[in-house]
Amino acid sequence: MPHIIETDIQYLKGAGPARKKLLAKLGIETIEDLLLHKPRAYLDRSRIQAIASLRIGQEATVEGTIQHVTQRRTRRRMTNVHALLTDYTGSIQIVWFNQPYLRNVLKSGTRIFATGQVRSYRGLQMLNPEFDIVGTAGGAGAEGVEWAGMVDAGPASDIPDTTTEPQTSLSAGRIVPVYPLTAGITQRAMRKLTRTALDKAVPEITDPLPDELIEKLDLPGVQDALENLHFPQAAEQAQRAHRRLAFDELFFLQVLLSLQRKHIRRPRTAKPLKGPRTLIKKAYDSLPFELTKAQKRALKEILEDLSQDRPMNRLLEGDVGSGKTVVAVLAAIAAAEAGSQTALMAPTEILVQQHARTASEILDPLHIPFTLLLGRTPAKAKREAAAGLAQGHIQLAIGTHALIQEGIEFAQLDLVIVDEQQRFGVLQRARLLGKGRSPHGLIMTATPIPRTLALTVYGDLDMSILDEKPPGRLPVRTHRVPERKRDGLLTYLAREIGRGCQVYVVCPMIEETEEMDLKAATETAERLRAHPRLAGLAVGLLHGRMKSDEKDRIMQDFRAGRTHILVTTTVVEVGVDVPNANIMVIEHPERYGLSQLHQLRGRVGRGRQPAHLFLMVGTAIGDESRERIDVLVRESDGFRIAEEDLRLRGPGDFFGVAQSGLPTLRIANLQEDADLVVAARREAQEWLASKPARSHPQTQRLMQELHRRYRDRAELFRVG
Ligand code: ADP
Ligand code: MG
Repeated sequence: MPHIIETDIQYLKGAGPARKKLLAKLGIETIEDLLLHKPRAYLDRSRIQAIASLRIGQEATVEGTIQHVTQRRTRRRMTNVHALLTDYTGSIQIVWFNQPYLRNVLKSGTRIFATGQVRSYRGLQMLNPEFDIVGTAGGAGAEGVEWAGMVDAGPASDIPDTTTEPQTSLSAGRIVPVYPLTAGITQRAMRKLTRTALDKAVPEITDPLPDELIEKLDLPGVQDALENLHFPQAAEQAQRAHRRLAFDELFFLQVLLSLQRKHIRRPRTAKPLKGPRTLIKKAYDSLPFELTKAQKRALKEILEDLSQDRPMNRLLEGDVGSGKTVVAVLAAIAAAEAGSQTALMAPTEILVQQHARTASEILDPLHIPFTLLLGRTPAKAKREAAAGLAQGHIQLAIGTHALIQEGIEFAQLDLVIVDEQQRFGVLQRARLLGKGRSPHGLIMTATPIPRTLALTVYGDLDMSILDEKPPGRLPVRTHRVPERKRDGLLTYLAREIGRGCQVYVVCPMIEETEEMDLKAATETAERLRAHPRLAGLAVGLLHGRMKSDEKDRIMQDFRAGRTHILVTTTVVEVGVDVPNANIMVIEHPERYGLSQLHQLRGRVGRGRQPAHLFLMVGTAIGDESRERIDVLVRESDGFRIAEEDLRLRGPGDFFGVAQSGLPTLRIANLQEDADLVVAARREAQEWLASKPARSHPQTQRLMQELHRRYRDRAELFRVG
């Protein structure tokens, strides 16, 4: 029996097919989605104040009529909208920054509520207040002309609001929710829909959490929580509602992950890899550099794990350039010495080839054979590699997904290393592990994962952290460059190239399609080739659509210094290593996530020369983007950056949900609710360990709810 909260949103009274499309943009497809669409803020509109009674510095809500609307350009090329708001006691000046479309929305005579901080500037003023249109003075109510004054609203299309209830009940006289919106849906419409959904669906919901848990953690019941998430009587209630729903979400996620781990858990014994350790000593001594303290520590931890008869399950975490590959290759040597094979899987061909280069530098002198496996490896070479691996005289296979194909078998695979950079999911890792009987496992990741997230995604992994970079690396100086200084930058680049430097130019990422990315990159390369200041310099172009051998050729040209500037889409993101390239220019950095920018930045600063990153910031960027870019300019520590990124974007975006295997969290925030992550994990494990009786109604309810929420992962529940 389908649950009422799973009802398609278009059947909710007041929604319909037109709104369905708009709501889909917010990820709202069912009544449940709407109920979990969390307000991004609350406004205290329990009291509307007379303008004459306002005090400087207070936050207040006023209701009045717009009088005099003008649009002004500022020196920083923003367009601000100024208006005078008047009630029967006085007037206040209102300014909205950089939302020029408001000029068409806020006409003289429009009646609005505005909530914001009162300041004094040539009289009373409010900057960027939250507002709702309630009608036109003397007009016939708000029908059809209601807009929301939220920065995330954008220029809206005209969906008439067909509400018939008094407009004030949900938008004033109380604490009012403010939702993330999309163009064409207003705050008032969202409030109305949510109210309808609450009234219709919530009485039908039974609490999925066991009673003892609710009591133990002093949480409100689910019905209460949903009501108060949207329409709290007091701020404190909204907070309690958030905690309840966040815990709920995290608890079910933890139960899911525990069952999932149980499902893919390997037998408890592994082959202890205890060789004579002479080869590894030899490799170690002949490295062209001394390992950092962090590398030595990580290697020691790994070798210790490998010598156990329990499979290693370890995460090797290190910022870009911290030297993970060397550690991985040394671990592979330890395995080889014990008569075992290693598989090292990486997400892209470029990365695989780079690992292969590092490996051959270390392994060739020791005559340890290894093989390279890519999707495009010719059939004959693949057969040879497969034979070598099946017979056991090849000790190490480095490859892409090609490694997990049918037909690739290992004689004695005892170590599996995944350089995942968040691109492989749980199941792909499991498949590679499945190629051995019970191999040791090592995951390498370049994105420093904040602790709370590691706990959520990886649960019971041990961690080795490379928190130190090889010596002599200078931090990459990061600069913000305004458009008008572009020519100056090109002059500088030409001069630096004259001194022997090489440059990456990373092209704007356009989210729509790969073709558009390609077009942007091609155009940028052409523009640079034609630019008089760069006359005589060789500009290469690398993008994801190229055939692999073409990519190789272009990378080789760049590595050998035959091209001076390499224009790329984001393919360089994953680990290219050209020490001589120490300048990077990123177009439209505001389109990237912070961790991604940090990864990109890690491509430079690998040599001895001071490295520079130039961020060509567009003019019309929002506050959040500006904040992200500030973080990047200020911080060089990947850990701090990852934490900021998680705070600003949430885990879904951080990882790319599909790839991480981590469902999106709608209510919980892993940074701000870190204590709940820990509590949810503990409670989930305790609950599972208590072996709850299957027949108990609460157990059944909980398991049903788990299936309902994660239906698409059904295969993971078949617990063996
Ligand atoms: P990661 O994969 O962690 O980003 P890599 O393993 O690719 O880093 O190493 C980056 C570069 O640093 C490689 O050129 C590698 O040879 C070099 N390198 C690694 N460890 C050291 C070290 N201890 N001292 C000097 N250079 C090192
Ligand atoms: Mg690497």
